Amino acid sequence: MKQGKLLYAGKAKSVFLTENKNTLIVEFRDDITAFDGGKKDTLKNKGSYNAGVSAFFFEYLEKHGVKTHFLQMLDSHRMAVRRLGMIPLEVIVRNVAAGSIVRNYPFKEGTKLDPPVIVIDFKDDTRHDPMLNDDLIVALKLATPAELKAMKKAALGINRLLSALLAKQGILLVDFKIEFGRQGKTIRLGDEISMDSMRLWDKKTRESLDKDVYRFNKGDVMATYNRVAGRITNAGARPAVTKKKPAAQKKGAGSGRPAAAKPKAKKR
Ligand code: C5P
Repeated sequence: MKQGKLLYAGKAKSVFLTENKNTLIVEFRDDITAFDGGKKDTLKNKGSYNAGVSAFFFEYLEKHGVKTHFLQMLDSHRMAVRRLGMIPLEVIVRNVAAGSIVRNYPFKEGTKLDPPVIVIDFKDDTRHDPMLNDDLIVALKLATPAELKAMKKAALGINRLLSALLAKQGILLVDFKIEFGRQGKTIRLGDEISMDSMRLWDKKTRESLDKDVYRFNKGDVMATYNRVAGRITNAGARPAVTKKKPAAQKKGAGSGRPAAAKPKAKKR
């Protein structure tokens, strides 16, 4: 696949055209920003962790029936994706109160939100991504009522899938932000799902394992991203644990421990 002209450069990702008009290349750069770009840094290899985790989640979600833009990884920082017409909404799902919801509303940090709370912001940097409601979304013609319903349903499904996957590795999915786009009449999950767009806490220690480490100088960002990326990708590669003893093994059949399968990039 040949990387063509730069189509768009965001704060941490660049999007390029390819020879196929329906396929784009997303490069996860090593840049990291917070507070509307007020804090900025470049951390060597950071992009590869976000690309790897995003690819892993996209594949996992596809396997469970969620339509995404992911096609395949090209190298450590770049993935090929389907070209979508992006919907300028940030769909945020919250399982536990943290971040802006605690700043803006009388929630105590750490309070469980059951059922999960969906908040939708307008992706518009010049207006600092204001929160929308359903009527505003429809009045602004950002999405039809049917599309909005489909995005909310997909967001809750993604939340269930990712919460369960992460729980296997002792990680609590506090909240996350996703974005959707249109491919014809089909709505697909686009953008990324990574440590930059999720809040992840260690279940036992409640330690932050995401961009909050960078936002609030909580520790070594790269060491955290490295550790959490390892934990996340292992969670999916590990088969379900059975209490039953395995059937008698033939001699020389190996240790019984499965090889840690790396998620394979599938071509779709
Ligand atoms: O800051 P706030 O608490 O609203 O963020 C909720 C979740 O959405 C966090 O996981 C945050 O990382 C993510 N988010 C994002 N991009 C934004 C705003 C929030 O990825 N522009």
